[in-house]
Amino acid sequence: MSRQVALVTGASRGIGKAILHALGAQGFEAVGTATTEEGADSIDTGLAKANLNGKGLKLDVTQTESVTALLEEIRSRFSAPYILVNNAAVTQDNLLVRMKEQEWHTVIDTNLSSVYRLTRACLRDMMKKRSGRIVNITSVTALSGNLGQANYVAAKAGVIGFTKCLALEVASRGITVNAVAPGFIDTDMTAKLGEAQRTNLVEKIPLGQMGSVQDVAHAVSFLVSSGARYITGETIHVNGGLYMS
Ligand code: NAP
Repeated sequence: MSRQVALVTGASRGIGKAILHALGAQGFEAVGTATTEEGADSIDTGLAKANLNGKGLKLDVTQTESVTALLEEIRSRFSAPYILVNNAAVTQDNLLVRMKEQEWHTVIDTNLSSVYRLTRACLRDMMKKRSGRIVNITSVTALSGNLGQANYVAAKAGVIGFTKCLALEVASRGITVNAVAPGFIDTDMTAKLGEAQRTNLVEKIPLGQMGSVQDVAHAVSFLVSSGARYITGETIHVNGGLYMS
């Protein structure tokens, strides 16, 4: 029997890469995306080094044609995804008074509209098979708010609302839809912060340290496992106690 496919967007580095490898280790055909061919090749190399089955493919989540082409390639090489992890995202921080329309639109399009695009592209096959798992990566800031991130936080709060609506719509088809909200995780995204900002942030975390990419990957691994079959529409927080909802 062929392996079930797990598709992870933005899997070239950081949290997405850790999720991809965790799902590969769970026995899924791990298909990860990057924005460039070089990134896709590096996903192939990483999977091969870790002795995992899967493939890196190119995707721009802001382009519907790119999403369509990706799904066609996955279906022809393997089979339609059983798991979709919407992970790809960007930040373009600015105080609202200075935020340009381009900064607003880029972040909403990459972090929120992408979730609509990818999910719609995968959903019909999941509905036909009456099984599937969708996990959307949001952020602690969707609940806490954050200075200078009105675009990012609006997108990530939108992802939580989207998750709840879709969970209601597809529950009868055997598909679960959940979100994972990381706190302060050590990746390229947080490397942009200055040393003083990092120290200040870590001081506010009850568990006293930044999270690792594996901490987030473990939560995703659980949500796609059979042990989580009765959990849907939920947001799991992975933030060291930084925010408790
Ligand atoms: P990261 O290291 O900056 O990686 C971002 C990933 O998204 C890369 O694989 C990148 O691909 C991809 N990407 C960017 N723009 C894209 C586009 N237009 N189309 C397709 N892919 C695109 O991010 P991260 O820190 O691992 O974050 C992963 C997720 O966790 C995001 O949803 C983020 O919002 C969330 N999160 C992170 C933290 C944190 O502390 N790090 C906290 C809360 C939530 P390329 O490599 O090709 O550019």
